[in-house]
Amino acid sequence: MVLDDAAPPPSTDRPLRVAIIGAGPAGIFAADALTRQTDVPVAIDLIDRLPTPFGLVRHGIAPDHAKMRAIRETLHRSLDQPLVRFVGNVEIGVDLSLDELRRHVDAVVYTYGAALDRRLGIPGEELPGSLAATDVVAWYCGHPDADRTRVEAALAGARSVVVIGVGNVALDVARVLARTPEELEPTDMPQHVLDALAAAPVEQVTVLGRRGPAQASFTTQELRELSDMAGATVLVDPVDLELDPGSEERAAADRVVGRNLGVLRGWAEHALDAGRIPLRLRFFRRPVRLHGDDRVTAIEIERTAVDGDGRAVGTGELEVLPADLVVRSVGYRGTPLPGLPLDEGNGTVPHDGTGRVLRDGRPSTGEYVAGWIKRGPTGVVGTNKHDARETVDALLADAVDGTLAVRGDVDDLVTTLQARGAEPVLLEDWRAIDAAEVALGASRGRARTTMHEREALLAAVRAAAPR
Ligand code: NAP
Repeated sequence: MVLDDAAPPPSTDRPLRVAIIGAGPAGIFAADALTRQTDVPVAIDLIDRLPTPFGLVRHGIAPDHAKMRAIRETLHRSLDQPLVRFVGNVEIGVDLSLDELRRHVDAVVYTYGAALDRRLGIPGEELPGSLAATDVVAWYCGHPDADRTRVEAALAGARSVVVIGVGNVALDVARVLARTPEELEPTDMPQHVLDALAAAPVEQVTVLGRRGPAQASFTTQELRELSDMAGATVLVDPVDLELDPGSEERAAADRVVGRNLGVLRGWAEHALDAGRIPLRLRFFRRPVRLHGDDRVTAIEIERTAVDGDGRAVGTGELEVLPADLVVRSVGYRGTPLPGLPLDEGNGTVPHDGTGRVLRDGRPSTGEYVAGWIKRGPTGVVGTNKHDARETVDALLADAVDGTLAVRGDVDDLVTTLQARGAEPVLLEDWRAIDAAEVALGASRGRARTTMHEREALLAAVRAAAPR
């Protein structure tokens, strides 16, 4: 459908105005793909509800993964592009409705990710001492919305920790909880996080997979890293590594699975040295219920087998493990943005396969989606690059064939927001936050310390540029 036959094509005087909602990797890669082409003149507003860019690169990648977090430098180069305007501290649906935003721009790309945890649906899941991995990760990365009280109360009594799920997030959480204070000291974690982790009385960490090692979703590099811990030893029961023919086939056909099994087999011989804590990886165990009155004290698990379709089926054999802290690391799910359709089943925005948003089953002119909110919470940071490019290709094709046109004069988004009393954080403001975090880190001999309070982030902005 052509929006407006009379509308002129985008030009350098009146470029195609594109708002990208979510300044995480998918949003930044989408901005980058838009700026790297010359067919369609564009001007981009990269909007984030936080005063800081980088999404899960800042608030998801574990702080002890310094090399992985260094991708910030690459992402920053895209923010520095003159065609891109970072507009942080603005929540679409709160500060400005989606309809209002759409009146300011010609196209919107939704890249706001999948922030919520998936639920287990078992009794006791809500008890104090039971946390979603999303909460723990947000807390240790210094996310302004992290529930410090809940996480720190759970951690204060945590001797026996059980992590449910065998994805990379489960490994991140298990590893961070089992690290020594000395290992975490150089990271950019906020000081209160370092203090709480140092004070936590963790004596053992157990990671549970409901299926076998051949069905685990962690990747080999992340798995291997567990052997590089100063105060913890990985233990694996050799019985869990005995494979049925289906799993043998899987291991032979899939190199990642084969390598994972090789690493796990190397650990099956491990003995626990005095003074080290055990980090146990157990497979074929699914959670049944959490025990406890006013907080978690134990977790009941059931032994499983993997059926011919690769599903976990219960064997009826139950076991109760002591647990003062249970971390549910069973995946993320997308949340609705007011005014945007969301498939409740898989937590993604419906699209045509290449990123054009569907409303009532038909492509909605000027609306696109990329990243986790498009394809679900899968893949590594780099996966978003290809994904964002696919979406941007669809957007540009629509601009070239006239489906997507410029709409004449539109009000400037930032001017509108400021007139309503919002406090958009622009690139220079973010640089002030960045400098404040580097200075805070330097005061303790670190490269950076993450500032976790929204007010502190905004104070750094105001201090640099009094308004
Ligand atoms: P994930 O890879 O999808 O893993 C989820 C885990 O939860 C799976 O082991 C799954 O088992 C299990 N699970 C789901 N429902 C369950 C239930 N009801 N009971 C017990 N177990 C259940 O998700 P993730 O770990 O959250 O990671 C999300 C994405 O981020 C992934 O693509 C991951 O690779 C990526 N990531 C990458 C890195 C890195 O590169 N270093 C770090 C963190 C995250 P089943 O397989 O049986 O369903």
